[in-house]
Amino acid sequence: MKNRLLIALILICSMTLSAQKTPTTTFIHAGHLLDTETGKWMDEVTIKVNGTEITDVSKGYTAIPQDVKYFDLKDKWVLPGLTDMHVHMETEYNPQAYISKFVDDPSDVAYNSVGYAEKTLMAGFTTVRDLGGSGVNISLRDAINKGKVSGPRMYTAGKAIATTGGHADPTNGGNQDFMGSPGPREGVANGTDEGRAAVRYRYKNGADVIKITATGGVLSVAKNGSNPQFTLEEIKAIVSTAADYNMHVAAHAHGDEGMQRAILGGVKTIEHGTYMSAETMDLMKKMNCYLVPTITAGKEVAMKAEEEGFYPDIVVPKARAVGPQIQGMFERAYKRGVPIVFGTDAGVYAHGKNALEFGYMVEAGMPAMEAIQSATITPAKILKMEDKIGQVKTGFFADIIAVSENPEKNVKTLEKVTFVMKDGEVYKN
Ligand SMILES: [Zn+2]
Repeated sequence: MKNRLLIALILICSMTLSAQKTPTTTFIHAGHLLDTETGKWMDEVTIKVNGTEITDVSKGYTAIPQDVKYFDLKDKWVLPGLTDMHVHMETEYNPQAYISKFVDDPSDVAYNSVGYAEKTLMAGFTTVRDLGGSGVNISLRDAINKGKVSGPRMYTAGKAIATTGGHADPTNGGNQDFMGSPGPREGVANGTDEGRAAVRYRYKNGADVIKITATGGVLSVAKNGSNPQFTLEEIKAIVSTAADYNMHVAAHAHGDEGMQRAILGGVKTIEHGTYMSAETMDLMKKMNCYLVPTITAGKEVAMKAEEEGFYPDIVVPKARAVGPQIQGMFERAYKRGVPIVFGTDAGVYAHGKNALEFGYMVEAGMPAMEAIQSATITPAKILKMEDKIGQVKTGFFADIIAVSENPEKNVKTLEKVTFVMKDGEVYKN
């Protein structure tokens, strides 16, 4: 028996050895390369990629050796792959979205999500933080990591955590039989013990980050879009338990009171932040809590609210009220010095249009370079990946994109990315 085991082991080892290929070497000549740390462009640069990693970045166009892949980006503006810190990879809103949870199987959700992931990657977003779905998002992340499907590197919350009837209670709006009493396993938690249990279920299911709905939300089938939905104690319990598992907490919040509780409770990011007061902005600065603006989603829901029948009647007044507020709040928050990280809520609008957010940020007074940094080095820090993503430097993952114009002069050029490399593999050229 022992011998047979040994032979099996040797066979497995030799199989893995023969499956290992020498990593592909790729050279890129970049006309202009952005250093996201300094915000400065370097002209005429050679980037060398070995396998999945950047192994050299040097000044000047060096000679290209034989037997390597070569990409000529001499007339392009080259940047690290972008990160969107707020997406929903499983869904894309349409008038049928509210019944889809009753008729779609997880396999249907999975097939849809593959297309959304690919669109996101093709738009130059090589990393995303997925803030809530049914759990298919965890399988999608794994399938992308294994190279089965094309998509961005994903950090996912799995299911979001809400209180009963709260913004992410998955049974809201159903009939009485369907509503039931979901509990922490389904992401519904009341009290500190259930809050801790809900975090541990997420850990068990394979989540990377925790998402809570600290206030009401626009698109849920519920009356209030901004009331507080957790107590401070509940949030503290969730944040401290998440920290035990090396996870940070993102809090969806529109109303000011729920937002303050989330910040005081120790969350890392506030999503949307619609009705943020000056006092809360100062609290964000003090606690080093980041605003994830999602201006694109705000504009989209306000627009769709005017389309007859797009949203249920209970959602329409919330979408009209909340949507148009976000860009103005962003402008005030930026001026006041609130830490900001890029995020769009893709899935509330069509996937792949994430870069629209850059235009809205610049329109509201943020310089284009700061907007780009908020989608590169800043998310890298929050995800504790600052030595791997967000920069084109030796030792970093080979996540590289290119555009045709200087994005500092025309930020909308980021909506038309012409080259996408992720982990050393070229997906678009
Ligand atoms: Zn969202």
